[in-house]
Amino acid sequence: MQYRIDKKSGNRLSVLGFGCMRFPRNLGAIDMKRTETLIMKAIEGGVNYFDTAYIYPGSEEALGAILAKNSVREKVFIATKLPIVLVKDKADFDRFFNKELERLRTDYIDYYLMHQLTDMDFWDMLKNLGIEEWIAEQKKSGRIRQAGFSFHGTQAEFLKLVDVYPWDFCQIQYNYSDENFQAGTIGLKKASEMMPVIIMEPLLGGKLTEGLPQEAASIFKKADSHSSLAAWGLNWVWNHTGVTLLLSGMSSEAQLEENIRLADASAPGMLGPLELDVYHQVLNVFNKFYKIHCTGCNYCMPCPQGVNIPGCFAGYNLSYSMGFVLGLKHYITSIAAISEKTAGVGLCVKCGKCEKICPQRIPIIRCLEDVKKRMEPFWYRWVIGIARFVLGKNGKKNLQ
Ligand code: SF4
Ligand code: SF4
Repeated sequence: MQYRIDKKSGNRLSVLGFGCMRFPRNLGAIDMKRTETLIMKAIEGGVNYFDTAYIYPGSEEALGAILAKNSVREKVFIATKLPIVLVKDKADFDRFFNKELERLRTDYIDYYLMHQLTDMDFWDMLKNLGIEEWIAEQKKSGRIRQAGFSFHGTQAEFLKLVDVYPWDFCQIQYNYSDENFQAGTIGLKKASEMMPVIIMEPLLGGKLTEGLPQEAASIFKKADSHSSLAAWGLNWVWNHTGVTLLLSGMSSEAQLEENIRLADASAPGMLGPLELDVYHQVLNVFNKFYKIHCTGCNYCMPCPQGVNIPGCFAGYNLSYSMGFVLGLKHYITSIAAISEKTAGVGLCVKCGKCEKICPQRIPIIRCLEDVKKRMEPFWYRWVIGIARFVLGKNGKKNLQ
C-alpha cells in the first residue's frame, strides 16, 4: 500500500480509503458477514482510512461493531460527518455527535466533517449557531482530532469556503469527467496548498466503470487491453499530486483486491501525455451519452410521493448509452411500472424537496419531465396496460 502524509496532522494515510456508504446488503439489511470480511481484508491490505456518515443507513453501526469485535479501532482512522441539513439548533451538534460516537463504539473521531457544506449560507448558519466554538471544545477534549468539510457545490462557493475557517482537511468529488465540475481542478489545486484533500466519487458511482458507454470503454480497451475501467479511473485521480487519498466503495472481495493492487502501483505523475489524451477521447464520447449527471447516491430518496428518482435517471441515461430498448427495460423495472405501486415520474408534484438536497445540483423536476417525454412515448401506457393484464396485475391504481 502507498501512503501519503496528511500535512496538517502528520498522519500517514493509505492512498486507498474505504467508502462505507454502500456496504453489501442482503434483503435490504447490511450483510455483516461479508462486510466484516471486506473490512478486515482491507485492513490487512494496508487500508487505514474508513469514511462513513450519520445519514448512511446502518453504516456507522456496522463499522463500529466490526472494528470493536476485531479490536482494530486503533489501527484505523475513522471519518464521519455531522448531518448539517438536519441541524436546527446548537444542541444538535452534541446530539448527533454523541450518537455517532455510540454507533461507532469509540470515544473520538479522527476526521470529522461538516457533511455537504455546499455554500456560504450553510456556513453562516453553522457559524451563527457557534460551530467554531463547538469544534474548538471537541478538539480540546480530544473527541475530534481533525475537522473538515465535504463539498458538492459550485467552484465559486468552494473557493470561498476553504478560506472561512482553518480547516484541517476537505473532501471533494473528483474524477476524469469532473475536472470542471463542482470544486474541479482549480478547487483541488487551491485546497491542496492549504490542507489534505480527500477524493470521493472517483468512479462517479460506477458511471465510469460498468456504466461507461460501450463506445467510450472500447477507446480505453484499444489503448491498453490489460487495464480495467476501474484502473483507468482510479489512476487518473492518483496521478494528481494534490490528492491525499481517494475513497472507493468496495462491495466485493475481487473489487477490493484489484483496488489494493492498483493503489500499490499508483504514483503522482504516473500518466504520460499519450495516456492523458486517451481520457480526452473517452470524455468526448461520455459527454455525448450521459445526459443527466446522477450518481445514484440516493440522497434525494425517499421522495414523499414515491418517485424512484435515481432509477428514472438511470434508465434514461442507459437509453442513450446502451440503446433505447435496454434503457426502457431498466426504466420499467426500476419504477416497477407494471405493479400497482409504481414509482413513476407521473407521481411527482414538483414540491422541490429533492432538488434542495441533490449534491450534483441536478434540476430534478425539469429532468423528470425530460425522462417522461423520452421514456413514456404515446404507446407506453398501452404496453404497460397489456403487460399488467397478462401478468394479472391489472390493479386499481392508474398508470403514472
Ligand atoms: S419534486 Fe417531485 S420527485 Fe422531487 S421530492 Fe417532490 S415529488 Fe418527489
Ligand atoms: S438525483 Fe441527485 S440526490 Fe438523487 S440520486 Fe441522483 S445525484 Fe443523488
